[in-house]
Amino acid sequence: MNKKEPIIKVDNITKNFRGLKAVSNLSFQMEEGKITGMIGPNGAGKSTTFNMICGYYPASEGRIYYRGKDITNCKPYEYTKMGIARTFQIMKPLATLSVLDNVVPSAFFGRYRAKTLAEARDIAKEILEFTGLYGKKDMKAGEMGTPDQKRLEMARALAAKPELLFLDEAMAGLNPTETDQAIELIRKINDSGVTVFLIEHIMRAVVSLCEKVIVLHHGEKIAEGTPEQVMNDPYVIEVYLGKKKES
Ligand code: ADP
Ligand code: MG
Repeated sequence: MNKKEPIIKVDNITKNFRGLKAVSNLSFQMEEGKITGMIGPNGAGKSTTFNMICGYYPASEGRIYYRGKDITNCKPYEYTKMGIARTFQIMKPLATLSVLDNVVPSAFFGRYRAKTLAEARDIAKEILEFTGLYGKKDMKAGEMGTPDQKRLEMARALAAKPELLFLDEAMAGLNPTETDQAIELIRKINDSGVTVFLIEHIMRAVVSLCEKVIVLHHGEKIAEGTPEQVMNDPYVIEVYLGKKKES
């Protein structure tokens, strides 16, 4: 068979927030070089899953493996060093700093770390060019609109030169044209060799980008497969459209 080891393997993870089970016994894998998507209604546990895999907070139960190595209890900075970067669903730019200065610090972290400020600025400029923000590098980050702030989130993550990028609703609040541009950027990031895991509500984006989709509902995986497979799954349709299954 000679099947490659998955870049991420999630084994039976659960997250309890006091009384609430936000994620329950979830297992899945991400293949290297691919784009894996996660969908599900609001409150399904998508961001919680994402946060556990990124080391933002620990799983209550279960294990997470990165290239076969158990990383379940690693700290967020250790993830960055390993080559895992993320964006936040709620953008967190340093609003009063320039776009460039928002990206420069990331270049000092990650797998490849800049040795000097000049080198970090060069990496940041290269990433701004790549993400289409170079023309706005001297603008204050807080003065940009939502689409550019979403791009800036990605640029800050990319300056750490990750091999795995996690995107939490990178397209929320974008109009159709802006969505197309974001899809194009995510494809370009993937083409550059970065494995992508994304949470997304915009189905068009999921269909055009993802090779595999995992569907969560009430913290449990209810379907997994190609976008076409999961969107034709009767239970997924019921969860999204509220239709009762014929018996
Ligand atoms: P999604 O991203 O799919 O919309 P979340 O993972 O954000 O869902 O949330 C799943 C459930 O966990 C929700 O019921 C939410 O209210 C709850 N939850 C998320 N984060 C916390 C937290 N830090 N403390 C307590 N409950 C939380
Ligand atoms: Mg969420």
